Amino acid sequence: MVPTAWRPFLIFLPLLVLGPWSSVRGPNIPSIRVALLKNVPAVTLQGKELRIRLPEEKPVSYYLDSPVRVSAAAEGIQVGDQKYAYPQVRIQSLEKPIAIGSRQFEGTLEFHKTGDDSLLVLNDLSLETYLTGLVHGEIHASWPAEVIKAQVVAARTYALFRQEKRKQNKNSLYDLEGDQDDQVYVGSKGSADISVQKAIEQTHGEVLWFLGLYPAYFHSCCGGMTEKAEKAWGKKETSAQVADPFCKRSPFSEWELKLSTGDFLKKLRGHGLEGRHLKNISLERHDGSPRNAVAVIETDKMNLYIGATDLRRIVGYGKLKSTWFEVQHSPHSVSFRGLGYGHGVGLCQWGAKAMAEAGKSYQEILKFYYPKAVVRKLY
Ligand SMILES: [Zn+2]
Repeated sequence: MVPTAWRPFLIFLPLLVLGPWSSVRGPNIPSIRVALLKNVPAVTLQGKELRIRLPEEKPVSYYLDSPVRVSAAAEGIQVGDQKYAYPQVRIQSLEKPIAIGSRQFEGTLEFHKTGDDSLLVLNDLSLETYLTGLVHGEIHASWPAEVIKAQVVAARTYALFRQEKRKQNKNSLYDLEGDQDDQVYVGSKGSADISVQKAIEQTHGEVLWFLGLYPAYFHSCCGGMTEKAEKAWGKKETSAQVADPFCKRSPFSEWELKLSTGDFLKKLRGHGLEGRHLKNISLERHDGSPRNAVAVIETDKMNLYIGATDLRRIVGYGKLKSTWFEVQHSPHSVSFRGLGYGHGVGLCQWGAKAMAEAGKSYQEILKFYYPKAVVRKLY
């Protein structure tokens, strides 16, 4: 959940095989706007009965041939052979999902011109349908039913919470990132993942609530103690720190990472580090937390202060798995030993899994990780 820089990238992520259920629609289900692609020059769409809608005073809508290429043009947006002098157009298929490459999207796709050669592509769809497109890592489909339900309620709450936050920022065109910055979303495709679909139906409209939508963050494994949002990323948001005895048997409850000293210094060189020889690494912890706040890297030339979360990003989130670590160094190597995987805020997925295996309900799991929040049916 690192604040996103506006950067050009395409989201190519492993697909979770999902679908083919019909899109969930209803009068009270909120819709959600997810950023799919940023700063792309063009996108090719495929679908049946594609319709374009133009933002005129009295909106105009007509059919498009498929496949159709949508690209940024100097004077607006080009769709197939037609150029439109609008900053945005919307394309939808009333019957079927729309495909971009191997990914399929329900709802409406919206194209915004963000530069002479760049588009922002959004997916505007029902929140319940969005939940079916969250990938492994966000929702573990093969786990017990109660932990899947807990994850679905947390993911639904998180999506609405982000939407509320982004609505306060009038310039924002969308509610959620479609990648790790929020929740990894790939659209729906392939054979049905019945367990996730069931959990979505059985918890329909349920969210976590405490004086409003609860900031329902979650992560892979806390390592034995969850973390307050304020300590993890300096945001004053409601959160609790709980001692978690349940995730001990997670594959990530303990980890080690060994880097050569040369590699370690090289990684930091692009982030302000000078010097050839590593003299010392010291760590400063957050008050009342086992996690590190800051690492001080001392070389022959300087002392570099770097946030522990920034250090994770630089070394790789998948390598330096959490900010709860000790470090040792020699002239040849830098060795980290740590606990947990992820930022540690909110629900610990591996702990929640063990709770479900011990017979706890999804409500009990949610109460444990979000003690102040109650489960409330919003629609
Ligand atoms: Zn845990």
